[in-house]
Amino acid sequence: PGEQEPFDPSKKTLVLLGTGWGSTTMLKNLDTTNFNVVVVSPRNYFLFTPLLPSCTVGTLENRSIMEPVRLLMRHKKREVKFLEASCIDIDVDSKQLLLERRSSSDAKLTGKGGADEEPLKLNYDYLVVGVGGTVNTFGTPGVEEHACFLKEMDDARQIRRRLMDSVEKASFDDITEAERDRLLHMVVVGGGPTGIEYAGELHDFLEDDLSKWYPELVDRVRITLVEALPNVLPAFDKKLISFTQDTFKENNISILTRTMVKEVKDKTFIVQNPDGSRSEIPYGLLVWATGIKAQPITNKIRQKFPEIQTNGRGLLVDEYLRVKGAKDIWAIGDCALSSYAPLAQVASQQGKWLARKFNHLSNDDLITDLFLQMNAKTRPFKYSSQGSLAYIGSEKAIADLPFFNRNITAGGVATFWFWKSAYLSELLSLRNRTRVAIDWANRWLYGRDLSRE
Ligand code: NAD
Repeated sequence: PGEQEPFDPSKKTLVLLGTGWGSTTMLKNLDTTNFNVVVVSPRNYFLFTPLLPSCTVGTLENRSIMEPVRLLMRHKKREVKFLEASCIDIDVDSKQLLLERRSSSDAKLTGKGGADEEPLKLNYDYLVVGVGGTVNTFGTPGVEEHACFLKEMDDARQIRRRLMDSVEKASFDDITEAERDRLLHMVVVGGGPTGIEYAGELHDFLEDDLSKWYPELVDRVRITLVEALPNVLPAFDKKLISFTQDTFKENNISILTRTMVKEVKDKTFIVQNPDGSRSEIPYGLLVWATGIKAQPITNKIRQKFPEIQTNGRGLLVDEYLRVKGAKDIWAIGDCALSSYAPLAQVASQQGKWLARKFNHLSNDDLITDLFLQMNAKTRPFKYSSQGSLAYIGSEKAIADLPFFNRNITAGGVATFWFWKSAYLSELLSLRNRTRVAIDWANRWLYGRDLSRE
């Protein structure tokens, strides 16, 4: 395999895996003067995931929430190298990574050219793993083949296409009424924040836009959210759960709780009802939002330390975010297992914290063992929660906010404006903020774009 040389042999090479919340925030805060910094990710952009559900129905355009990683790298003190590749293996003894070029993995999927490109080898001195997670289907049959996910931009694109496909197909006169009802049944599996926010956006799309352009169909569209537990949003305050359930009821979104999806077929899915019986339900679009599991590379790293890394959900880290059992490897974000939930906020705080540690330690020219130095010089990472926010549709949002050690809960239209301004200010760049604000204004003026891409 080809060798990827560090660009200044006198400096240590720091490799960041991923361009999600953890790695991007780390990169933003990192002083690159003292390291060869290499970022490796199959995605050459950062994605502002909290607004991804808005892209599934065209409330926002896709590029408005994407930030090219090279724009972030441009202002660094020393040049940062970016490689559009997936890390597929690691040799922890020789400190070497094996990378598969993005073009090569794409080629394998499409079967067109480039699949035989050689993997690259990349040496590291320090490695930060921020590869996030991948969708968890819990091995449910048919999900991979027939369901849409809501994790990456390609997923949002696919949902938008499938949604418009279902609606256009349902507009033909020569189909049966049962087929029309099937096509117009939109199903969301999973009552976590992702499923709830998507159902909310879908409702807005029906209410604001489909009702205008497809008046004969809109009354027949049904949205169903299926959740295995007794209620949705288990991590939120009880009052907010009831507020969400009431809002969904007003918006004609059915919630089936204590109901578990057991199989997804081409046009129907099978559920286990609360009484243990099973039913087969027809659907036109099914979005699977049941949480995440570890990426293949996370498992590869885990397997290098089988005695210590015994949790299949990710990499166990200590309070300094060091991967337990490993040397010179840190993990941040959803791939790191600590006492914190897999949240964007946690990942970004971890990225910032670790960048500061590296900035501080890199002033010392005699770094021999960064691991040992950390214990002596630094306080452990501690997450400080800024609270949870979620959009639930019809211009309403819910918020669970910690203030002076008390939890303030709020739901409604004012919270929606708070949600809007909070997300707008959190967006990484002015460029993205402007784009999102323009999209919101466009939607208000002209409605959402219905064209099928
Ligand atoms: P989640 O894990 O929060 O929720 C998934 C839900 O799917 C669970 O309630 C589970 O009971 C249900 N489920 C699993 N299998 C099922 C089946 N076969 N049939 C029916 N229901 C099934 O997942 P998420 O919403 O993707 O969130 C992942 C993480 O990201 C969470 O930690 C969440 O808090 C966080 N997140 C937060 C926000 C926010 O704060 N606004 C937004 C998105 C995600």
